[in-house]
Amino acid sequence: MGVERRRFIQLGLAGTAAYLAGCTDAPTAALEESPAEKLPQGPLVLSTWDHGLPANERAWEVMRAGGSVLDAVEQGVMVVESDLSNRSVGLGGLPDRDGHVTLDACIQDHDGRAGSVAFLQRFEHPISIARAVMERTPHVMLAGAGAERWALENGFSTRDVQIPEVQAAWQKWLERGEYKPVANIENHDTIGMVAMDAQGRLAGSCTTSGMAYKVHGRVGDSPIIGAGLFVDGEAGAACATGVGELVIRVAGSHTVVELMRQGRSPAEACKEAVLRIQRKHKDLKDMQVGFLAIRADGAYGGYALRDGFSYAVHTAQGNELVPSAFG
Ligand code: ASP
Repeated sequence: MGVERRRFIQLGLAGTAAYLAGCTDAPTAALEESPAEKLPQGPLVLSTWDHGLPANERAWEVMRAGGSVLDAVEQGVMVVESDLSNRSVGLGGLPDRDGHVTLDACIQDHDGRAGSVAFLQRFEHPISIARAVMERTPHVMLAGAGAERWALENGFSTRDVQIPEVQAAWQKWLERGEYKPVANIENHDTIGMVAMDAQGRLAGSCTTSGMAYKVHGRVGDSPIIGAGLFVDGEAGAACATGVGELVIRVAGSHTVVELMRQGRSPAEACKEAVLRIQRKHKDLKDMQVGFLAIRADGAYGGYALRDGFSYAVHTAQGNELVPSAFG
């Protein structure tokens, strides 16, 4: 198994130049070269890992067709949720140690409205259920059997997926039954997406099958507002990927947004969140965490604990996978 983390550039998307006049800088991940101040406000879409490329593509199309930035971040990550060859997002994900694929997702808009589902089984699009929780209930988060019942009652259907390769991988894992998170391989890789529309409105989404072979019932950072995702239109938006427990302990995405509010660049804010994780944990061997952020003025950046994290950036210049700064 293994997804090649390649540099991938798609330029010259039809119609984008006319739609997005004014963007002049190509994306870059280097901390000191953050394009921040030079970039005009959106549209702009950032998402984690190379599965972010098709997700960004879809999100961009949604905005180009007149959809809202909230529609964009929902529909963008749905592409990855539907990809049954993806082993870390959606129903194609690797299971927990009992063999169940359990899904976490959340979504948040410019005004801080939020919806979330955790420990959900057998639904193709947890992100859409998270959005429905936001829009149709007075709550933010539903979990487990209650979330599943609510989803069924509200028009979502279950889907049963059996993937022989996943079953075989789980059987193999059971031979040793060792739970040991490994950095930057496909046993954990959420898709987190943050985006800004042409009016400067922000939104974000995050969806995952979580850590492979986790304890049944484990919930990571991805459905937790402030950990895997945080959006406040006044300050910015951030999302996270990697070992969720590390992110939760520092309220990672909230930390990044608050640091941007205080004037830090997105990359600096992401770096500070990573440094907090480093200061609080003695042994981070074989663990990865990455943050992405867009500041309210359209500046963007990312930072990771170690080498290997890449993210997809869609600007008027195209959709590009860039390696994150790290350290
Ligand atoms: N953050 C996710 C989790 O802990 C996994 C990942 O992003 O790799 O469930």
